Amino acid sequence: MDDKETERAEVSLEPPKIQRLEESVVNRIAAGEVIQRPVSAVKELVENSLDANSTSINVVVKDGGLKLIQVSDDGHGIRYEDLAILCERHTTSKLSKYEDLQSIKSMGFRGEALASMTYVGHVTVTTITKGQLHGYRVSYRDGLMEQEPKPCAAVKGTQIMVENLFYNMIARKKTLQNSSDDYTKIVDLLSRLAIHHINVGFSCRKHGAARADVHSVTTSSRLDSIRTVYGVSVARSLMNIEASDNDPSTSVFKMDGFISDSNYVAKKATMVLFINDRLVECSALKRAIEIVYTATLPKASKPFIYMSIVLPSEHVDVNVHPTKREVSLLNQEIIVEKIQSAVELKLRQSNESVTYQEQTVASSPSSSLGTSKELQPKLLSPGSQSQKVPVHKMVRTDSSDPAGRLHAYLQTKPHKPLAENSSLTAVR
Ligand code: ADP
Ligand code: MG
Repeated sequence: MDDKETERAEVSLEPPKIQRLEESVVNRIAAGEVIQRPVSAVKELVENSLDANSTSINVVVKDGGLKLIQVSDDGHGIRYEDLAILCERHTTSKLSKYEDLQSIKSMGFRGEALASMTYVGHVTVTTITKGQLHGYRVSYRDGLMEQEPKPCAAVKGTQIMVENLFYNMIARKKTLQNSSDDYTKIVDLLSRLAIHHINVGFSCRKHGAARADVHSVTTSSRLDSIRTVYGVSVARSLMNIEASDNDPSTSVFKMDGFISDSNYVAKKATMVLFINDRLVECSALKRAIEIVYTATLPKASKPFIYMSIVLPSEHVDVNVHPTKREVSLLNQEIIVEKIQSAVELKLRQSNESVTYQEQTVASSPSSSLGTSKELQPKLLSPGSQSQKVPVHKMVRTDSSDPAGRLHAYLQTKPHKPLAENSSLTAVR
């Protein structure tokens, strides 16, 4: 053993002293986990607004959320008496005993989100409850009110403002400042929430901007909502899909959603998944579906998927991830398999009908347009100008129709890639 090694052996004999961390340190560490980036704060705030039965939720963001995140809703508001403990850790109106977790319907349950925000940013709450003449405004730091709530004018509901996020976490702030994509993440999050919660109107804009980047209105049609949020070209290539199982020995679930067909071509797959109304990620399901697309529609192998899965709440463990990004399901593998088969069946059916159409067109003499007049009316819509125009001279007349969308022209090559032409793409 040389000198150095002897030294190390001696040092390692002495165990380091264990000490209790100061509460403020514990709280800040925990907060850093719950609020990982600005988009996590937006998610928590919007979920609170949903839990408050809001029908309108408006988000304003400055500097990717680092300078300001403001979420305003028209929900039930917060009682004056509760404002003092509103932002303390583990204070919640949604859970009182552990067993409640089994059947919890609200998005939140830990009473940690608002507290976390006050440990890593400056939080100001303005709220009014039903029947009150005025509301209250109060600011918080490190879990506590900075002063007594001040009476103020307020419209129905609650507005929560988070300023200077991560002002006390220099390293995190630096890494986030270098990446400018948090606003994009926030827009993406609100788009996802908007197409699921169709009875709530959402908006999201940059501070000072006149135009909102997400703007949804309440509707009774999911497809309308997808059209508004993701654009006409996405909505046009969607097919409704359902699957279910009700056998306790295998799985119990119901799935309802929309999946893209062979006309939807994108660089990246989009999977919007809700399990019991929670926006979650499930990489196993996403992978299973992508495999089916690659095998069935190789040219449209990056799909757009919206799925809402509902299962008995006692089959879902919601308490497995600090930001609640994932849940764990009973019989997950079987559920994934069943949904995968449903997707495969749907794609095969749609593929067959496309192939059939193609064959009809290809075998028809009118595929060389302008030769057989009596056959054309069946294939071209009446009054369609294109009867006289050769294919290579055709122009796009509907600006919402992406360039290259050739079905309308009876080309026999319907799989030409589409530009993803939603207003959202521009933001992304
Ligand atoms: P949790 O959502 O887990 O209960 P939070 O820290 O997110 O914890 O919120 C604490 C409590 O504050 C909630 O339980 C709720 O009663 C109240 N609250 C928060 N945001 C709102 C809001 N926008 N409208 C009404 N009440 C709210
Ligand atoms: Mg919450």
